[in-house]
Amino acid sequence: MAEIAIKQVAKRFGGFTALHSIDLTIADQEFMVLLGASGCGKTTLLRIVAGLETPSQGEVWIGGRRVDHLPPRERGIAMVFQNYAVFPHLTVFENIAFGLRMKKLPQQEVEGRVNRTAELMHIEQLLKRYSGQLSGGQRQRVAVARALAMEPDVILMDEPLSNLDALLRLEMRAELKGVLAASKTTTIYVTHDQVEAMSLADRIAVMHQGHIVQAASPVEVYRNPAARFVGSFIGNPPMNFILATKAADGSWTVAGLTLPGPKSDKQTIEFAIRPEDVDTGTEGLHATVRVVEPLGPHTLVTCDVEGGLFRAILESNATVAVGDHLRLAQTRPHPLVRPRNHQRALIQTPFDPESTTAP
Ligand code: ATP
Repeated sequence: MAEIAIKQVAKRFGGFTALHSIDLTIADQEFMVLLGASGCGKTTLLRIVAGLETPSQGEVWIGGRRVDHLPPRERGIAMVFQNYAVFPHLTVFENIAFGLRMKKLPQQEVEGRVNRTAELMHIEQLLKRYSGQLSGGQRQRVAVARALAMEPDVILMDEPLSNLDALLRLEMRAELKGVLAASKTTTIYVTHDQVEAMSLADRIAVMHQGHIVQAASPVEVYRNPAARFVGSFIGNPPMNFILATKAADGSWTVAGLTLPGPKSDKQTIEFAIRPEDVDTGTEGLHATVRVVEPLGPHTLVTCDVEGGLFRAILESNATVAVGDHLRLAQTRPHPLVRPRNHQRALIQTPFDPESTTAP
């Protein structure tokens, strides 16, 4: 059992607070992705779990054992970083065996583990090569194999695929998912790539300015972002935010679009609408097409609407041209709203905004 519990962990660098009292529990064998923009604190949090950085406050527990005072080698973890330090002067075999030799495991055990993990990563035919003779993707596999060979309870990965080209990245992503699920380790994986996060994670912890804003399954994070930031960070293109005004009958309208809304004594309220949750019709949001991007499976249309821009994902055979006037109707029954008195909350309608509290 290797549950990881991060309890009220904060990190200050001089006067700058990189992490604000983080609480996060990662279940045994769970694949947790830390996702966020550059500088939000992902790597710092990972390094604290690894023991490469000391927290200014808080505790780290792995497998029911408090570890924040222990050096990395005593934490039962293996790490794979972006600049995966594969030694060019060693063969692939010796690279994978490196940590096992440090642990002074018997030769037979070393050979068994190296062969098993090499097979798992499809590099068994490369074992005799020097790693300086490998491609980036092959070196990447060696780095992962070396971590897996340690049979750790926990694997920590920091942007391990970022040096690869797009195609290889896609391939390795799928392989990594399968291999890590089979190895039954608990994984924390840092990335700023939302697609990678969505595809790999059991849960995603979305980070922003040293806080975890939401930790939930990929679908939950996508469909029910707990905060405006999450909606604006996840999704390509991200959510549209439009300000609607209360009509006489209590519904909410913006430029011809009427939305089912919460009861509120506020006069304006912000709705959050995913680009794929609208369709063209005879009524709805008045929108003038500014840019049309046929992307293959669908067409992305950027429109001018009252108060700003609105992006809609339409069918690939949609016949729209720059300058067209469209009406866009919401196709999901319960759009998300952000009451103006709640700075961060995004809440699924229908709801009573006066009875909710912001996270
Ligand atoms: P990236 O995706 O760019 O790697 P990140 O989310 O991993 O970003 P961190 O590396 O954790 O971000 O850094 C978080 C913040 O802490 C940043 O503002 C960074 O400048 C700051 N920081 C990190 N390490 C140090 C340090 N040793 N001294 C001072 N500030 C630091």
